[in-house]
Amino acid sequence: MGDYPLAELGDKTPLEVADIPMIDELCDRGEFFLNYTVPDGYPPGSDVANMSLMGYDPAAYYTGRAPLEAAAMGIRLAPDEIAFRCNMVTLDHGEDGQVAMRDFCAGHITNEESHALIAALEDECATDQFHFKAGVSYRHLLIFKGEHPGFITVPPHDYIEQDVTKHFRKYLAEPQWKTLLDKAKTVLADHPVNRKRIAAGKNPASLVWLWGEGKMPTVPTLTSRFNITGTMISAVDLLKGLGVLGGLSIANVPGATGYIDTNYQGKAQAAIDALRSQDFVFVHLEAPDEAGHQGSLGDKITAIEDFDARIVRPIVMDLRNRNEDFRVVVTMDHFTPLALRTHVSDPVPTLLYDSRETTKGSGRPFSEKSCTEHDASAQNGIKAGHEMIEKLFAIK
Ligand SMILES: [Zn+2]
Repeated sequence: MGDYPLAELGDKTPLEVADIPMIDELCDRGEFFLNYTVPDGYPPGSDVANMSLMGYDPAAYYTGRAPLEAAAMGIRLAPDEIAFRCNMVTLDHGEDGQVAMRDFCAGHITNEESHALIAALEDECATDQFHFKAGVSYRHLLIFKGEHPGFITVPPHDYIEQDVTKHFRKYLAEPQWKTLLDKAKTVLADHPVNRKRIAAGKNPASLVWLWGEGKMPTVPTLTSRFNITGTMISAVDLLKGLGVLGGLSIANVPGATGYIDTNYQGKAQAAIDALRSQDFVFVHLEAPDEAGHQGSLGDKITAIEDFDARIVRPIVMDLRNRNEDFRVVVTMDHFTPLALRTHVSDPVPTLLYDSRETTKGSGRPFSEKSCTEHDASAQNGIKAGHEMIEKLFAIK
């Protein structure tokens, strides 16, 4: 939701312009914080930032994106195994050994096609050290048993239509990785799925690109840390993986897409249902981030307003009808400013509402500016993003 002031909005941010009466009402009686979800020196990714929101210090627990996705897929890594994200990509190979990244997602290849390719790779390229695991669309995993080869990997979406020769050569410098990739290239080149794609004028999955690797972090569950039970509600595998590591139940909401057409009602209902028997829900909405990447101001404002009216309002109204005390945190993992269309590591506006606070409050709306001007972090001893959850669960 977070963004920078935009000239076209009269120097206001999308959050300031969006009509969010429910969140503003919570804000009126709540406390404001600026939450440093991305520690210095870490990439401002959803993996790092959501780890902070879940109460885990990235400096202590972050090992990479792929092991979190492995957790979401129900894969438990042995201590000597490393999960690599395995993208299906389209590479262009020049005659002089130059390599360019034509497409980081092989034309958003379908599950049916990519699962056939992953099965072929597992049949023909797997060894005691390498195994392929099928995920969704272009997003799969390679599980490697052994010592990390020491090369530094890069995300393929950062190199769209760019030369990746020097990054590709890092894999080729390691004999067993070179063997794996050479064989994978041959298997994929001859595969009927790719022949069909080429005939239809689509980008083939010409190779796999390995990145985002890490070992499975060992984290204490939220259940053990705070004596609570809970559910993760998200369309995104990464968040589901964090939920698994945190010891939460995972809700699979039909129609949860990660875009502005997501099943808002289904997500809110899943939260309401979970809170009948559990203490905590983490409801994640991807749509404002996607709108930021697409540079769509209209979609971003719509996503923020839908979040207020179709997620926050029904959940809060249901809790009020139960006559039980509750707390709500409204926040974001990181900004995805429309002007930049990528993530940044600015601290994020956060509000904490406690239903026992009955006095009329500040009258201030929920925005980047309010949270900056009235940041209560210092008085409340919150210095880093992962401390927020301790405050949420602390019973006064
Ligand atoms: Zn994003």
